[in-house]
Amino acid sequence: MSCILITGGFGYIGSHTATILSENNKKFVIVDNFSNCKREIVDRLKMCTNDNVAHYECDIRDTKSLVKIIKENKVTSVIHFAALKSVADSIINPLEYYEVNVNGTISLLKAMKTTGVKKFLFSSTAAVYGEPDFCPIDENHKLKPLNPYAQTKIIIENILKDIVKSEINWSIVCLRYFNPIGSHKSGLIGDDPLMAKNSNLMPEIIKVVRGYKNHLDVFGDDYGTPDGTGIRDYIHIMDLSEAHVKALDFIDKNNGINFFNIGTGKGVSVLQLKTAFEKVSGFNLPIKISKRREGDCAICYANPKKANEILKWNSKYDLSQMCQSAWIFVEKNSK
Ligand code: UDP
Repeated sequence: MSCILITGGFGYIGSHTATILSENNKKFVIVDNFSNCKREIVDRLKMCTNDNVAHYECDIRDTKSLVKIIKENKVTSVIHFAALKSVADSIINPLEYYEVNVNGTISLLKAMKTTGVKKFLFSSTAAVYGEPDFCPIDENHKLKPLNPYAQTKIIIENILKDIVKSEINWSIVCLRYFNPIGSHKSGLIGDDPLMAKNSNLMPEIIKVVRGYKNHLDVFGDDYGTPDGTGIRDYIHIMDLSEAHVKALDFIDKNNGINFFNIGTGKGVSVLQLKTAFEKVSGFNLPIKISKRREGDCAICYANPKKANEILKWNSKYDLSQMCQSAWIFVEKNSK
């Protein structure tokens, strides 16, 4: 039986993807260094999956341990989530981002090379497109990183392109994620990072709901958008997770390297998301308009046609369902 190594499997996207892999009867083993997740995620994921959740506490920069884990578990493919992901933090601490994201991936790829594993699914990001020249963005859009975080993802994509050229039989897919929000239907797992410096919009909304902040800062209302606030392509975390199962099927059947946008294709502004969340939660979210955030673009939404057609993947959930599921996580975890 094949076995999937999931790096960063206890993080937001990793843990939700694990639940879908489990539903699809896929065997997996998780490697995570617990740098940005709570320990209780292990038991919660066990509950979500009715599975033992094989896992190792290990840093991806530890190549020797990775080789051992790959051999012990007869790993046949890898989904690589483990990375630092705060744009703002990457601007302040670029070296840390290059060290963990780039060197960490090189270490993992070395372990794969040593063990002959050549199937690789990589978590990339829409941030690689920077301030887009056009929307919806397709995969051929120029890559114009606005910050070190996006830069690390492009460097890794380039390394992967070179690997495919250097050796036969590699099968690699890079999924460029847009903006995942929401949670698993159980409300047991959600976007629950340890690091306060992660400041994506939905986690910030949740901080206000929980009383950790008394208002939501809206970063700029003077963009060239209908309501002046930034537009993004929010996608339900379960839709995004589902794309990994489809991508793994594709990897099993195709060699080479392929890039796919994973978004809904719909642009939603900060104020539209706020209103949608208020509607499902009944919670009134006070806001303060503040200045634009460094490294932010005005509008960014996907053309997901390539993933729709080639991976046979489509997003299913609408904005209200995304907010509903984010709200379930808050309600079930309000300590
Ligand atoms: N944003 C905001 N307040 C916050 C966090 C985010 O107004 O506290 C805005 C941000 O400027 C952007 C959108 O929400 O227009 C999405 O930001 P996020 O950090 O979630 O995603 P990214 O910018 O990386 O796509």
